[in-house]
Amino acid sequence: MNKIEHIGIAVKNLADSDGLFQRLFGAAPYKHESVESEGVTTSFFQMGESKIELLEATRPDSPIAKFIEKKGEGVHHIAFAVDDIRAEMRRLQAEGFQLLNEEPKAGADNKWVCFLHPKGTNGVLIELCQERS
Ligand code: ZN
Repeated sequence: MNKIEHIGIAVKNLADSDGLFQRLFGAAPYKHESVESEGVTTSFFQMGESKIELLEATRPDSPIAKFIEKKGEGVHHIAFAVDDIRAEMRRLQAEGFQLLNEEPKAGADNKWVCFLHPKGTNGVLIELCQERS
């Protein structure tokens, strides 16, 4: 695993939170993107080498809607950049971690992504992401 690529924050209202984080960071989000398969709309802020991803649910059964229902708004996941997502998935599986998807899936911001079950990582949802080329 390389650096922290981004931190994902679950929010109720993306437009409101875009404004809030724009005031906090002094910079506007550089992109907005919906991921239909995940039921989310996202916005990304660049902070030096790292990014902050805001996530809003687009439907009630979206994982973000369920997360907010249970825990409220806040930090949802930490994403790590990897060079070879399949190799990293195999390595982590061999280490006994549970993957939430068996195949890399297309995520936001031009990435292949895979999530680890938070039960096996002290309650922290971990995302692996590799640049899609
Ligand atoms: Zn993410």
